[in-house]
Formats: sequence, structure tokens, C-alpha cells
Amino acid sequence: MIIVAIDGPAGAGKSTIAKALAGKLNLRYLDTGAMYRAVTFAALTRKIDLRDEPRVADIAKNSVMLIEDNAISIDGVDATVAIRGPEVTRSVSLVATNSLVRTELRNRQRLWASEHDGGVVEGRDIGSVVFPDATLKVYLTASPIVRAQRRVAQSGGDVNQIAAEIAERDQRDSSRSDSPLTKTDDSVTIDTSNRPIDDVVMQLQHLVEKKSSGKGTQA
Ligand code: C5P
Repeated sequence: MIIVAIDGPAGAGKSTIAKALAGKLNLRYLDTGAMYRAVTFAALTRKIDLRDEPRVADIAKNSVMLIEDNAISIDGVDATVAIRGPEVTRSVSLVATNSLVRTELRNRQRLWASEHDGGVVEGRDIGSVVFPDATLKVYLTASPIVRAQRRVAQSGGDVNQIAAEIAERDQRDSSRSDSPLTKTDDSVTIDTSNRPIDDVVMQLQHLVEKKSSGKGTQA
């Protein structure tokens, strides 16, 4: 079973690269950030206090979450657009500190991989916690300004404000006690600031092919 774990901060290019790589390798793709966002969306919609950890975790445990490459719904409600909105984006890293939520989503992510016979999985703790034995672990990064500019190009807004929001979310994601964003010693680090997407995807494709054919253990 091939698992490619792609971690990194917001705006590093994870989704674009993970999707393209999955296409090249004929694997499925899973955006675990969308799962944290969907739980946040459902909690906000139901007016649940996000600090009420058991109630928020109940959503993560019991809701029906349908995740496709370009769409996500939770308990039958299409959340594809809303999960990218400012309200969810502001609140998601708080929900992500909830260990009960993390346990539920981690279980779902592992189940997803076994049901799909592996895949390309992107997030913050994929190589460190969810799939510590992944075929290939990648840590994507980019300079703060490039990351902010990418978000502005995607969704608009003021670049300085977006840069500040990203920095705050990164800080929360990296400093939480349960499975923080971290680069494992065995991951390949790629700075995507000045590299064409195709070039990065090709590099990763070669690395996966090398690893899965058993040639060489070094990246
Ligand atoms: O990847 P994306 O920016 O959509 O992730 C949204 C948030 O979900 C992150 O800022 C982080 O708080 C949380 N997350 C996480 N662990 C993951 C994926 C996302 O904590 N594996």
C-alpha cells in the first residue's frame, strides 16, 4: 500500500501538489484539513461552543462526512464553499487543538487509506502521527509572502491581513500539544516559493516510484 504524506503550513502548495501527484500515481487524494474545517463548519452552524470539547468531538465521531476531491458534505449539508470562508478559517485551528476530535479524524483517515488501498494524504500531522510508516513523507514550505500572495490570488483580500492571519494559524498549529505541525527527520523538505508545480510533482513522483520499487531508502 502506497501512502504519500504531505505536510506543511497554509499556502505551501499542499493541495495543488497532492492532487496532481495523486493523478500521476493513480492514487486517491485526501485533504485532511477539509475534515477539520467540516467539523468546525458543523459546530458553528449548530451554534455549539467550540470550547465544548466533547460536543464538538461528537460531530467528528458521529457525523456522515462525504469527502470527494472537489466537494465535501457533512450530515447531508454541502460544505464545499463554506469551509473555505473566513469564519471557518478563523476558528478551525482552535477545533484542531481538541484531542478528542483529532482521535476521531485520525481514525477516519486511517480507515479511508485502508479502504482506498493507500493514497496521497495532506495535512499537518500526516507523516508524524497519522501515517508514521508512509512510503514517502514530504514537508512543503514557502516564504510567508509567497504563501499570503497565493491565498490572495485564490480568495482575494488584503495581502498584509492575510499574511497576519496565516502567521497566527501557523503559530497555533505548530505550538499545540497534540500532534503539532512538525517536520519529521525522515521527510523530504521542498520550498515551493520559486518552483513550478509540475517540477515539484515530477520530483515527488520519481521519489515515490523509487521508494515503492524498493530502490534506495534515502530521499
Ligand atoms: O489545510 P488547511 O489549511 O485547510 O487546514 C485547516 C486547519 O486544519 C489547519 O490550520 C489546522 O488547524 C487543521 N489541520 C490539522 N491537522 C491536519 C490538517 C489540518 O490540525 N492534518
